[in-house]
Amino acid sequence: MTAMGCIEIVCGSMFSGKTEELLRRVKRAKYARLQVVVFKPKVDDRYDEVKVVTHEGVSTEAVPIASSGEMLSLVGPNVAVVGVDEVQFFDDGVVEVCEELANRGVRVICAGLDQEYRGMPFGPMPRLLAVAEYATKLPAVCVRCGAEASRSQRLDAMEGQLFVGGAAAYEARCRRCLVARAVEP
Ligand code: ZN
Repeated sequence: MTAMGCIEIVCGSMFSGKTEELLRRVKRAKYARLQVVVFKPKVDDRYDEVKVVTHEGVSTEAVPIASSGEMLSLVGPNVAVVGVDEVQFFDDGVVEVCEELANRGVRVICAGLDQEYRGMPFGPMPRLLAVAEYATKLPAVCVRCGAEASRSQRLDAMEGQLFVGGAAAYEARCRRCLVARAVEP
């Protein structure tokens, strides 16, 4: 019998340590000599083209892909663990792709923002969270009051949902301190 696959989601706001936690799980799988592939959306090139890098500078090799459909052909039969960073940027098809991989026996670990800057569900995240076996919500720290933060405050006036910012463009905020405007007063 082949191994039983599963879907694990690691989510939270900006600065909650999602990528750090993804890389921690990936590292442990590599210690166990399991074959691992990590993907990231092509849109995310803020630090490195072919790596996933945390704000702290920890990194791993990653394959940049433009659409979730590319994942299936890039995961060989010996791959036991698939990591996906910034999964919120992928199309809705990513849910079916993760299901397909898990059904094949792959352990799929997805990290991403559960909410966009207004506090609304981000892209495919609600559906991924629903079908996942395991979900971890990591809290950040609210920069205003020090409480646990679940929201990402946008500090500039950029349009759209795209969320590829460095530390300068966003702040972790709690529910109370989130200001539902694009520009701070
Ligand atoms: Zn707060």
